[in-house]
Amino acid sequence: MLEIRDLTIRYGRHLAVDGLSLQVAPGETVALLGANGAGKSSTLNAIAGRVRPAAGQISLSGGDLLSLPPHHVVDLGVALVPEGRGVFGPLSVEENLRLGANPLRARAREAATRDEIFSLFPRLAERRRQAVNTMSGGEQQMVAIARALMSAPDYLLLDEPSLGLAPVVTEELFAALAQIKARGLAILLIEQNVRLSLALASRAYLLTSGRMAGAGDSAAIAADPKLTEIFLGRR
Ligand code: ATP
Repeated sequence: MLEIRDLTIRYGRHLAVDGLSLQVAPGETVALLGANGAGKSSTLNAIAGRVRPAAGQISLSGGDLLSLPPHHVVDLGVALVPEGRGVFGPLSVEENLRLGANPLRARAREAATRDEIFSLFPRLAERRRQAVNTMSGGEQQMVAIARALMSAPDYLLLDEPSLGLAPVVTEELFAALAQIKARGLAILLIEQNVRLSLALASRAYLLTSGRMAGAGDSAAIAADPKLTEIFLGRR
């Protein structure tokens, strides 16, 4: 279980996240929704060890994550695909994937994991020697997700994977995410496309100005016009 309790994040005097609590169970897919600036990226970055919270707890299976540097968080099986992707542009697809397989937990299975990823994203297999900065936005997002998967995570944190992508490319990406989910990985997803998020995730949290404004099962939210309206931000 990945658990956040009473998380508070400040940037100087600005309170970005204010006493947030949430959980993601093993194998569960959860969406974190909310307007721009609601504190979603800050929350994911705090889990990944990239942002130091002012207060609160973050734990994985009861063990503290908060005091760990980012590479130790990855070693424990929590991988972030950051907004803006964080791939190495001049390097090839294969080289980017190799960099992702650095954690000890990933090394023994590196070849098998890469084969699984290439069957998930056949386009990456075709372009394995191509420099990533010559690829389309959708392909680069696939590389970013693939690189995170190479670390053999139990929890995948995705920060706006569809940002800047055409609708048809986004659909393709979400089809791949559904396959990743089916393989038993837990996913915590930030995504501006609420309908796609609710279709993929079993539960969703709604953040407003750094605070939890709502939470529920995706099916219940989709079935209740009032809840749908609130989660779609058309209040
Ligand atoms: P978006 O979808 O726009 O990324 P978000 O919900 O992910 O929004 P955050 O990126 O977590 O929100 O930002 C929360 C608030 O904290 C915003 O007001 C943002 O401007 C501010 N903020 C984020 N990062 C920093 C930073 N490094 N320095 C100062 N302020 C920051």
